[in-house]
Amino acid sequence: MKEICYIIQKIMQAQVMSSHHPEISVIIPIYNEANNLAPLSARLSAVLEGGDYSFEVILINDGSQDDSLEKIRSLCAQSPNYRALSLSRNFGKEVAITAGLDQARGDAVIIMDADLQHPPELITQFIEKWRQGYKNVYGQRQDRATDPRIRVIFTQLFYRLVEKYGDVSLPSGAGDYRLLDRQAVDALLSMRERARFNKGLYAWIGFSSVGVPYTVESRAAGESKFNFSRLMQFALDGFMSFSSIPLKIWTYAGLLISGFALAMALYYWTRTMLFGVDLPGFPSLIVSITFFSGVQLISLGVIGEYIARIFNEVKGRPLYLVEETINYPLLDKKKPHITKEQS
Ligand code: UDP
Ligand code: MG
Repeated sequence: MKEICYIIQKIMQAQVMSSHHPEISVIIPIYNEANNLAPLSARLSAVLEGGDYSFEVILINDGSQDDSLEKIRSLCAQSPNYRALSLSRNFGKEVAITAGLDQARGDAVIIMDADLQHPPELITQFIEKWRQGYKNVYGQRQDRATDPRIRVIFTQLFYRLVEKYGDVSLPSGAGDYRLLDRQAVDALLSMRERARFNKGLYAWIGFSSVGVPYTVESRAAGESKFNFSRLMQFALDGFMSFSSIPLKIWTYAGLLISGFALAMALYYWTRTMLFGVDLPGFPSLIVSITFFSGVQLISLGVIGEYIARIFNEVKGRPLYLVEETINYPLLDKKKPHITKEQS
């Protein structure tokens, strides 16, 4: 009888354990980071295992072409706290992060890069701030010494533009490395837009926020996935998702140019009345025609960019597709199609 009671007690305990979710989830997007995964997990595990909370680490393989997936599999085999999902192709960092957020079960979720530019040791301070009641705790990089000079210049220009003309105010130095409370995560997940600019979304959702300063380290191995054209695309996405200024600019430019043209007409009319026609007027004609054609093409292009975005959103495709999950099934509430599952 005693034994039966003991067994029932054990089963109930196991059920409680399995329904219990970890307090902290760490999500890491991975695209060709094979050489960084072992050092990353060593440093990360040292921090997490020393903490007084339960945790899970979710690795999102964003269609890596190197053997990142193999490395992820072996990490997951070594530790039951590590879980992974592998997307069906490269969807980009912003979407990979969203996939991780979809799957995170923690009361707080930490987002970090796989290349050790985000020191895992900062997590302890993030959690401290979270326990003090902050819901949006972001790592605030102190300097950009590890970035190429040209990137620093363009990044600053971009942030100034968004600050001035965008709908959101981005805290300086805040990136993806941050902790979000469950409430903030759910708010983020309620926005399923395709052209995702997470830094804007983090700011848009609000919640009590605080920055934790840190120094960015150099990338441990491999190279940055963001080349110039990808960064430009990223900046354009960011600016267009959070501002309609590019559309308005052309209204103002149009008004200004039309005003100028009227003044010019007045000037020519007066001159003709006073001195008569001297030149056939070919140069001014060709100059103005070319100029206005240019203005029209540019404004059409800007409208086109917005329409392309609208088109992308209305197609309503899923944000990403999952090919494989490792160490746990997908959460039910999310819809991605799984084609293969490995436990
Ligand atoms: N990343 C990703 N998908 C991509 C590009 C990047 O998941 O298409 C990941 C990458 O593996 C890394 C993080 O996003 O963990 C940041 O990338 P990276 O270091 O190249 O960006 P940077 O630090 O130069 O901004
Ligand atoms: Mg990096």
